Amino acid sequence: MTNYILALDLGTTGSRAIVFDASGDLVTQAYQELKQYYPKPGWLEHDPTEIWQDTCTVIQQALAKKSISPQQIVALGLTVQRETCLLWDKVTGEPLHKAIVWQDRRTAAHCRQLIAQGKAAEIQQRTGLVVDAYFSATKLAWLLSWLRENQPNVNLNNVIAGTVDSWILWNLTNGKIHATDHSNASRTMLMNLAAKDWDEELLDLFAIPRQMMPEIKPSIGLFGKTDPELFGAEIPITAIFGDQQAALFAHGCDRAGMLKCTYGTGCFLVAQTEDNLTLSQHQLLATVAWTTAEKTNYALEGAMFTTGACIQWLRDGLKLIKSAAETETLATQVKDSNGVYFVPALSGLGTPHWDMSARGAFLGITGGVQREHIVRSVLESIAYQVKEVVEAINQDSDTAVKLLKVDGGACKNDFLMQFQADILGVPVERPAILDATAQGTAFGAGLAVGFYQDYRELIASRKVDRIFDPGVGANQAQDNFIIWQKAVERAKNWQDD
Ligand code: ADP
Repeated sequence: MTNYILALDLGTTGSRAIVFDASGDLVTQAYQELKQYYPKPGWLEHDPTEIWQDTCTVIQQALAKKSISPQQIVALGLTVQRETCLLWDKVTGEPLHKAIVWQDRRTAAHCRQLIAQGKAAEIQQRTGLVVDAYFSATKLAWLLSWLRENQPNVNLNNVIAGTVDSWILWNLTNGKIHATDHSNASRTMLMNLAAKDWDEELLDLFAIPRQMMPEIKPSIGLFGKTDPELFGAEIPITAIFGDQQAALFAHGCDRAGMLKCTYGTGCFLVAQTEDNLTLSQHQLLATVAWTTAEKTNYALEGAMFTTGACIQWLRDGLKLIKSAAETETLATQVKDSNGVYFVPALSGLGTPHWDMSARGAFLGITGGVQREHIVRSVLESIAYQVKEVVEAINQDSDTAVKLLKVDGGACKNDFLMQFQADILGVPVERPAILDATAQGTAFGAGLAVGFYQDYRELIASRKVDRIFDPGVGANQAQDNFIIWQKAVERAKNWQDD
């Protein structure tokens, strides 16, 4: 009987189950796009029940495609969109509200209040994070106050909280395990980064009862087993990572200075710092990369909120394109963006601006501008944002970035990758398997049970698809970057609340 590892990658755009074999190769997969709920401008919610149902569906579909039985799955690794959080009733198993997604800005005023109270430095010191609506703490506080107001009779002793990993783990184990891992917990703004446990002062500050919070466990190690009623087998769940940290693990970035950038809904550039908890001087986040029972790896991160999400908006909002892939064809039909610059601040701006009130903008439009120019300017803006974060990383460290390893849905786009290499002036390396997120958690889960023996061998077996070297467009692209930064300044401080 051939054995496999099952990876669950529950992202912002959709849920994916991928089966990996003993050589670390992808065997089969299934995917389901996730519905996005926009109840108000700047708000974004997901339905937790839908995430759970999609999880079961994609697992069954992936296994069925290759007639793999659940008994052949020796371990399951889970990786999820981070910061998105919810409350649910541990007796009924029902979510008490939709999950508030990481991009949601509804708690911006609460964050501004914390900053005005002079709390930002202490919060950064304790959590490594910049005070922003992005993180879970203010979202959980919002959910709790909504609950008190709208369901005053609810028994708070039955209410538990968690990020998406906790919710799915709880369901996979039929309510037996309420836990999370250090990499996800480090994004809540409630975990003390040095102590690696919930920070009592912060729980008090956000009025979140400790007993609601999941237990924090090492990213690689046994979390529990799937309920036998679910798939007909008790599959050990042996890895949980935040999606960005899982991708870092898959790229083999386990030594200080190694970094990767994932191009999904947002772009996330993460640089390994090993056991060195470094607080950034240039607006980057300090975070947990991953943990085992023996070791903690930290990282520095630049978070850019809306990149692939802007492509989805071109498709679903503006209806300017039919598919994300079409952006590449359109962008290469014109020689430049014809003076158009796009600021992708659809959910405010993250690193290095941290401006919750910035909003999206097109600048430089003249009468000759066509659809192709608009599309191209949106793709270019993704690369410009990454350039800003690479500059912050360079300023924070002694050695400049020499190579960018990439992954994620949007890095399929050759135009974007070439433009990225041009604008950075360094090569961009794209792997053959773009689902590094799923691959990372599969590696972690497999290593935990001895299905995989050696991390370095797994990494060495990964194939590179293509290296994009800086080309003839480099000088022009770098000049245009200066103009784009001017556009960013115009889009900042826009929304009052
Ligand atoms: P996530 O894990 O955040 O859900 P994925 O890594 O699955 O994201 O990538 C999906 C994102 O990539 C979507 O936002 C989509 O718009 C974008 N995308 C997919 N293909 C392309 C493409 N060829 N060019 C540009 N963007 C793309």
